[in-house]
Amino acid sequence: MIKKLLLIFVFICSLQGFTQEEYLGDGPHAQLIIRGVMLINGDGSPPRGPMDIVVENNRITKMQIVGYPGVKINEKRRPKLKEGGKELDANGMYLLPGFIDMHGHIGGAAQGASPEYVFKLWMAHGITTVRQPSGINALHLKRQSAENKIVAPRIFEYTGFGSGSEKAISTQKEARAWVRKNAKNGADGVKFFGAEPEIMAAAIAENKKLGLRSTAHHAQLSVARWNVLHSARAGMTSMEHWYGLPEALFEDRTVQNYPLDYNYQNEQHRFEEAGKLWAQAAKPYSKHWNKVLDELLRLDFTLDPTFNIYEASRDLQRARRAEWHELYTMPKLWEFYQPSKISHGSYWHFWGTEQEVQWKKNYQLWMTFVNEYKNRGGRVTVGTDSGFIYQLYGFAYPRELELLREAGFHPLEVIRAATLNGAEALGWDDQIGSVQIGKLADFVIVEENPLVNLKVLYGTGAIKLTKDNKVVRVGGVKYTIKDGIIYDAKRLLAEVKKMVDAEKAKTNWKLKQPGVKN
Ligand SMILES: [Zn+2]
Repeated sequence: MIKKLLLIFVFICSLQGFTQEEYLGDGPHAQLIIRGVMLINGDGSPPRGPMDIVVENNRITKMQIVGYPGVKINEKRRPKLKEGGKELDANGMYLLPGFIDMHGHIGGAAQGASPEYVFKLWMAHGITTVRQPSGINALHLKRQSAENKIVAPRIFEYTGFGSGSEKAISTQKEARAWVRKNAKNGADGVKFFGAEPEIMAAAIAENKKLGLRSTAHHAQLSVARWNVLHSARAGMTSMEHWYGLPEALFEDRTVQNYPLDYNYQNEQHRFEEAGKLWAQAAKPYSKHWNKVLDELLRLDFTLDPTFNIYEASRDLQRARRAEWHELYTMPKLWEFYQPSKISHGSYWHFWGTEQEVQWKKNYQLWMTFVNEYKNRGGRVTVGTDSGFIYQLYGFAYPRELELLREAGFHPLEVIRAATLNGAEALGWDDQIGSVQIGKLADFVIVEENPLVNLKVLYGTGAIKLTKDNKVVRVGGVKYTIKDGIIYDAKRLLAEVKKMVDAEKAKTNWKLKQPGVKN
């Protein structure tokens, strides 16, 4: 019966494929008025509403409070719709600045994740801007997105250092030449993984001279001689994940306490030992810990922790059984996540209680640093790094917000990290990152209050009981607005499901848990 239904469904989908035109949202409109929202801004200010927001030619021109809670709105006082304008009834809904994902790889062949699949998952979760820190060459996609010819967030491309060059960069001269070429190609910055110290210094300095920004995943191979502090002092503007930070905090050692039979090529070794790393660093609030934190602050360095991408290390089952996998994870991506000695981030050789407990402690120390960095005025952003370690594009974003909340951020601080902080880190805070007159029209609209429960931002929504004891799902982003174009977020998710179902139908594929025969 289920098989029959599936066949009918696949048939309907394929029919729709012929009859439906590509969905590119609603707009742009000469004038757009969004009516009656509760504004949750990205600047740390408290929610206020009801408000009407007017957009003209993709710029916010008016933000008008139109009443008081529980009092009937005086319609005469509301901004007037011009001829040819568009009105969006969002009464009682919550409006936030478009979300910024500072660490988004635009899929890849190994994961079976096409740019279209990735973009739709992001847009369905309110992500209107993404920084790609290395990955597929996305300069053409960046252009198409800027022209709104495709459904995609605006893209900032931070090219992987050395990518595209025929041989490995081994001199300062080559490093500077690569950086100049990268800027000329139209990239927005550089992402480093680590290199010889003199190469790092030359490349970062040249990149800074050109006015571009930079970040790094400080890979374990280079951190003994070049950690986060070296990067920040050399002029790097941000860091990814956390590697290189405990190393800057070492007091009683200069290298991580590697077991003597360790092999970096063995990813269980790599991730298991990483889980013990924060415990080897200076204690929170100790003299050295404070000194490192304050120096990074003075250098205006941005932390992009990407907490979510390591979460399977502290709770593998949670990440593996996330409810969206059945509906929205591509078969090939699911296979990529499975235990493997080859696939990156699939280090489940024998991952158990001991490793998870270590990682839980690792998180506490890491989160303490990140939260205190924020408390002292440091910039922390939201990045996801999906496509690895059971983390799915789009869905990982609310999870990252929840983990910042767990680290100690007030929900309004979480939203600021997701919006204005990202914009500042990109050098685009005069254009995006908060709802402000003169800025571009990038918004997220949701029917539930995300400050009360961040889970309402998941595409699958949050579970709620009604007054008469019925189980319902609430939330999921309602509209994502980018460049003043309104996208029905649920429609985008449905399109993703259709793509996934079509892939599954090709081989009658079913999602199986690792090692289970059925
Ligand atoms: Zn990454």
